[in-house]
Amino acid sequence: MEFINLNAQQQKLTPKGITLREDIEQRIKSVLDHGKYILGPEVLQLENALAAYTGVKYCIGVSSGTDALLVALMAIGIKPGDEVITTPFSFFSTVETILLLGAKPVFVDIDVNTYNIDPEKIEIAISNKTKAIIAVSLYGQPADFNKINKIGEDYKLAIIEDGAQSFGSKHNQRRSSGLSTIGTTSFFPSKPLGCYGDGGACFTNNEELAIKMREISVHGQNKRYSHNQIGINGRLDTIQAAILLAKLSIFDFEVEARMTIGNKYTKKLKNMGVCTTPFISSENTSVYAQYTIQIENRDKVIKKMKTKGIPTSIHYPSLLSDQEALNTKTKNIIKNIFTKNLYKSKELNNAKSITKKVMSLPMHPYLSDDDQDLVVNNLIESIN
Ligand SMILES: *Cc1c(COP(=O)(O)O)cnc(C)c1O
Repeated sequence: MEFINLNAQQQKLTPKGITLREDIEQRIKSVLDHGKYILGPEVLQLENALAAYTGVKYCIGVSSGTDALLVALMAIGIKPGDEVITTPFSFFSTVETILLLGAKPVFVDIDVNTYNIDPEKIEIAISNKTKAIIAVSLYGQPADFNKINKIGEDYKLAIIEDGAQSFGSKHNQRRSSGLSTIGTTSFFPSKPLGCYGDGGACFTNNEELAIKMREISVHGQNKRYSHNQIGINGRLDTIQAAILLAKLSIFDFEVEARMTIGNKYTKKLKNMGVCTTPFISSENTSVYAQYTIQIENRDKVIKKMKTKGIPTSIHYPSLLSDQEALNTKTKNIIKNIFTKNLYKSKELNNAKSITKKVMSLPMHPYLSDDDQDLVVNNLIESIN
């Protein structure tokens, strides 16, 4: 069994009546034929399709989910010394991009049920240096943007959603990545909407930000060889856009399948009382980028399951605030900007305890009933 099976997807029939594999091969061939490898027509076509899908005005394809965050932070003008409030419980990109700009992450604890940043704890972390909040929509369900956006309005802060794991999910009927000032996502192969390499996108309804993000993603260029700001080489490849267009045509099916499989896991596990199953807020749907439970004796259970051939994973084994890069100043390229700490932190009691207990089970839209039963039975056996 595989943790995420990317090959099974290729056999799925697309609306064209051919397999996804065939559709992708045709679309790649078409790119090879027209030869516009950089910002070819597929990129714009995908951006329009993704903007329509998320219900926002502007989508800018970029080179990865990490660069999407970097471009978003640069577009809102984050500079050295600024503070950006975020969660300690995420992939490293969330904090790496803040630090690359010389800004200071300010960590706020997570909600004990959803594992997303706790909006009730944000206000006490706001200072006169705070410029933005990055809320991560972890494991596939949006953070509480109802409350987070309100804080953003009250304190004039930009709100960025890191939607790398939640693309396709909804918060109060609205799609993830279209919930705040800027939404970002990742098309890393294992993400809910994945390509066959690196890719990502930024979303916004704000025209000025959209133009800035577009320019920043192409070397800060407003016209050819005219650079009005510092940017990056952050474009989405034409071939990846072509692959994503094929995958987007079956994405509704996959989102539905993810929800069904996630809910099935919960139904099977909930009554066993052996672990804490994911809590999905009534305001949200989840695409279960990860199906993550909490258990005691995690290491023992993972080892036992591994001997039975059941892959598991830990998202994430330690908090961002505990990473060496944030705590060893001499190794850091931005060491000169801050005389004291590279980050600030409020108490993180929930995150500290949850990071020790989380464990993710095999999860993808093509996970069969039999395989799912095998995972569940092995998990229960391994716990007992
Ligand atoms: C995967 C991920 C990223 C980074 O995306 P890449 O495309 O790999 O750069 C950022 N944030 C979160 C929460 C992620 O899961």
